[in-house]
Amino acid sequence: MIEIRDLQKSYGTHHVLKGINASVSKGEVVCIIGPSGSGKSTILRCINGLESYSGGSIEIHGQRVDNTSPTIKAIRTEVAMVFQRFNLFPHRTVLENVIEGPVYVKGEKREAVIERARQLLASVGLAEKENAHPPQLSGGQQQRVAIARALAMQPEAILFDEPTSALDPELVGEVLGVMRKLAESGMTMVVVTHEMQFAREVADRVLFIDGGVIVEQGPSKEVLNNPQNPRTQDFLRRVL
Ligand code: ADP
Ligand code: MG
Repeated sequence: MIEIRDLQKSYGTHHVLKGINASVSKGEVVCIIGPSGSGKSTILRCINGLESYSGGSIEIHGQRVDNTSPTIKAIRTEVAMVFQRFNLFPHRTVLENVIEGPVYVKGEKREAVIERARQLLASVGLAEKENAHPPQLSGGQQQRVAIARALAMQPEAILFDEPTSALDPELVGEVLGVMRKLAESGMTMVVVTHEMQFAREVADRVLFIDGGVIVEQGPSKEVLNNPQNPRTQDFLRRVL
């Protein structure tokens, strides 16, 4: 579904991604791990066209992603993103946040979207909160709204950028629980995370990235339980 070949990205003279090769199949869950500043967010931002890149290619279903191309809006509706800091509209209700993309970006009928949004809110355990405003909710609830909002677009894949890093520790589990359910339902997911237990149990594959290159990748249990590269070993020693 997602094919990344020799992806290169520089900010000015700062060479951030130095030839990333990776692919994600339909229904697969891939976790990206690695130290801060290694380029993890930049990869996600390139995949969903929030960022241009300097070389190589990204294809989704064989269609080139490039944030200068006229099809980029369509690609963004196929691949949704969930951010570390929720990015909800604070002055709109939960329900309005969830229906906003399908109604205003995709031009779907409001009534049909509201129906779907209510089902999605129920599926993330927030059926009772549709009229609340995001600032009235806990971080964990806000992130679950953000996941419902991503799902409302009926995307083919969802990219998560450290979705639990901004949360108080006691709220992490409820968000990971929703993500786990989503993975079990067959959703294609790329997840940047420091939650190694989640990666080990839920991911099909793990990519370890350091300094803008993929240092090691493989089945999640192999990479996390028995890393081969000294840099992976060192990183895991520090985070586990
Ligand atoms: P990670 O998500 O792994 O922490 P990022 O992808 O956010 O890493 O960043 C990789 C590198 O690119 C870092 O050195 C960061 O400072 C730099 N960087 C990220 N975004 C920008 C930007 N908009 N302008 C300049 N440099 C950036
Ligand atoms: Mg990041």
